[in-house]
Amino acid sequence: MKFLPEKYTIADETMIPFIDEHEINKYLENCIPTMQIIKDIISKSLNKQRLSLSETAYLLNAEDPEMINAIKNGALELKKKIYGERIVLFAPLYVGNLCTNNCAYCGFKASNKSVKRETLEKNELIEQVEILEDNGHKRLILVFGEHPKYDANFIADSIRTVYSVRKDKGEIRRVNINAAPMEIEGFKTIKESKIGTYQIFQETYHPEKYSEMHISGKKRDYNWRLTALDRAQEGGIDDVGIGVLFGLYNWKFEVMGLLRHVNHLEAVYNVGPHTISFPRIQNAYNLDIDKSYLVSDEEFIRLVAILRLAVPYTGLILTAREDKKVRDEIIRFGVSQIDGGTNIQMKGYSQKNNKQNLDEEQFIINDNRTLEEVISELMNQSFIPSFCTACYRKGRTGEHFMEFSVPGFIKRYCQPNAILTFAEYLEDYSSELTKEIGYQLISNKLLEMDDNNFKDSLIQKLEQIKQNQRDLYF
Ligand code: SAM
Ligand code: SF4
Repeated sequence: MKFLPEKYTIADETMIPFIDEHEINKYLENCIPTMQIIKDIISKSLNKQRLSLSETAYLLNAEDPEMINAIKNGALELKKKIYGERIVLFAPLYVGNLCTNNCAYCGFKASNKSVKRETLEKNELIEQVEILEDNGHKRLILVFGEHPKYDANFIADSIRTVYSVRKDKGEIRRVNINAAPMEIEGFKTIKESKIGTYQIFQETYHPEKYSEMHISGKKRDYNWRLTALDRAQEGGIDDVGIGVLFGLYNWKFEVMGLLRHVNHLEAVYNVGPHTISFPRIQNAYNLDIDKSYLVSDEEFIRLVAILRLAVPYTGLILTAREDKKVRDEIIRFGVSQIDGGTNIQMKGYSQKNNKQNLDEEQFIINDNRTLEEVISELMNQSFIPSFCTACYRKGRTGEHFMEFSVPGFIKRYCQPNAILTFAEYLEDYSSELTKEIGYQLISNKLLEMDDNNFKDSLIQKLEQIKQNQRDLYF
């Protein structure tokens, strides 16, 4: 197989922007696959090795239906082999929608003057968290617009507030953040408040498209955003998430951009991103984009399957922007985390009527199912819904996360911890019917386990949960 050398035109150094548009285009122009090349690349990935830029470009250039099928089947197999049958659940929580930027695709852009701007007061934040705890959530991502009010201290305070909320048996065990980039000092501040993952999307890795889409405000600075995770790492946050807003520019270019970002973080900090997100553009108030780059459902499945193969150890996140049908389908190709019972309106979780208004939201979501409905569908597909936060709380993040993601780890820890957190959900929050189906699923999974000693200790912990003990994990 003839690969272009993996030596980049821009060397990986801390804080140095690393995307070279011409380099990415060169890979995409030169890596034309045959069936044999595709097969070789898939087997490398099934051997749990991350793919190079040229290998990924070959997969992206596969247009022949037989090659595309091989890629999808490869991703299905890899997902089963590495991640087991479990899906981690979380909910987004919008803390404030003040914003000084004008991103062409976003309903919260500053030029949308009629949008009601709000920031949750502490008691309002607590109220939203209590409702999410009552629904059974253990993991949240807090979302902020970009505004001087939302500085590092404000974000750190929000994180601390969320961790402090205890409603009945509820507690939030992991708080992730999606917020604007900051200086290293700012990242140190939010690290101290025990942030889970710091997530930020480049939106598009294509510099010219980026500047077209970000009309004014601090976000207009491509390099400031591109190096945000370098500063996060320098500030001590080694658990980071990257992403692209698909539909702004050519999806193949964007997948290459994501992979180049992974390479950069691995080269400089010896740790890749914890998660990759791939939101597709949804309708928003005064949406102002060139629609020629919108990604079809079929292309979307392909890109998720390729990402799964390209970065076998990285978590993939799929959100309620997508409808139920797309979510149920895509999950199989390698997604590891989804949101459930999502509402992205300000104070949305306390509203009785969750009707969406285009002129009040950042964008429209297409999956309005409750958490319990999402869980039922996961069980139908034989996935164990998981609220696990064990790695993070045992210090198995960042570099450690990679170390521990060795073969067997997921079966030994993640799968059993998923079962334990799911049992807590069934005991504390589910309907009788879901509880019955849930415990049946757990029994089936126990039957599949081959290590009897280990199985016994899991069964013992399940008994302890039935007797009201909580927060048990391996
Ligand atoms: N203000 C923060 C920022 O820009 O990084 C947080 C923004 S927001 C909650 C998270 C992501 O939503 C953005 O990074 C963007 O990718 C996505 N988003 C914005 N407008 C969207 C739209 N119309 N459809 C789908 N996703 C959108
Ligand atoms: Fe503001 Fe973020 Fe929306 Fe851009 S995407 S307008 S920064 S909230």
